[in-house]
Amino acid sequence: MPTREFKNRFERIEDVASKQQYTLKNAIHCSGVALHRGIKVAMCLRPALADTGIVFHRTDLHTAMETPATVATDADLPARWDTVSDTVMSTTVQNDAGIKVATIEHLMAALAGCGIDNVRVELDGPEVPIMDGSSAPFVFLIECAGLQLQQACRRSVRVLRRVEIEDGDRRAALLPSNGFTVALEIDFDSPAITEKAGYFDLHNGGFKRDICRARTFGFEREVSRLMELGLGQGGSLDNVVVVGQDDEIMNEGGLRYGDEFIRHKVLDCVGDLYLAGGPILGHFAGQRTGHTSNNQILRKLFSDPANWEYTHDVPQPSMAPIQAWARPMAAMGRDDTVVAVTA
Ligand SMILES: [Zn+2]
Repeated sequence: MPTREFKNRFERIEDVASKQQYTLKNAIHCSGVALHRGIKVAMCLRPALADTGIVFHRTDLHTAMETPATVATDADLPARWDTVSDTVMSTTVQNDAGIKVATIEHLMAALAGCGIDNVRVELDGPEVPIMDGSSAPFVFLIECAGLQLQQACRRSVRVLRRVEIEDGDRRAALLPSNGFTVALEIDFDSPAITEKAGYFDLHNGGFKRDICRARTFGFEREVSRLMELGLGQGGSLDNVVVVGQDDEIMNEGGLRYGDEFIRHKVLDCVGDLYLAGGPILGHFAGQRTGHTSNNQILRKLFSDPANWEYTHDVPQPSMAPIQAWARPMAAMGRDDTVVAVTA
């Protein structure tokens, strides 16, 4: 549970829709377990100059035996859509030297939701710690460190025309909008997951109010498969919502939101889309999407300069939900047609 101090800080910072860039006022540290590798990792978030973006740095590689001497172990690792190298169960970025950082999405979501443009993230391991499985501990860290206004304009990415990807039964679209909204439909075969669709306006504090406490989740029946893949080794009821064999929520205290599952998928989406290199002015619609689709849609967006432009405009609240698909996912067929949408 958040402390009273956390709640006060949490409720105070509201204006994240700034025209100017922000970094942290002070450096701040934490440590925790890595969800997939199961090791303990220490992390430090440090202020960074304007126009730096979000940059990871591995502090553990100077002495690592497995690193060939020819590899520049002190290289920075920019968090961008084109440095994403793996999207299986989490989002991993990798630089030209082959150095990787995995499970960045919940931290990226917190940075996006708090309006942090520039930060240096130092890690002494290959994965961002999972904390409680949500973004709330990172929001707490960021707000404890404080926000520092910088003398540079924030640059957002405006979606100029609809882009869409389809990958098997998953599909995603980015559409023009003056705000930033996310609509998701999920499809898990479990009676524990009752809410299957959600629409969220992430404008000015919406992430912190409605999304940041939603935890990652998994199914007890999938644990052995994950372990065989060498993933989920640090997973526990302290950092994952687990749906049991009888479709019960195994965590003491149950869910934080009735629709925590869909809210967590929105959280992942916010984090993954922040790899655009700045806030997005657009509407994201996803059906059965995950980290892979989130990266695919950014690659599609940036594949054609006619799809997007940089802007100094700030996002506006959405006036009405944007309809992206002609029919909901349940009725989706191969011949589905797309609704024409205007901004
Ligand atoms: Zn997640």
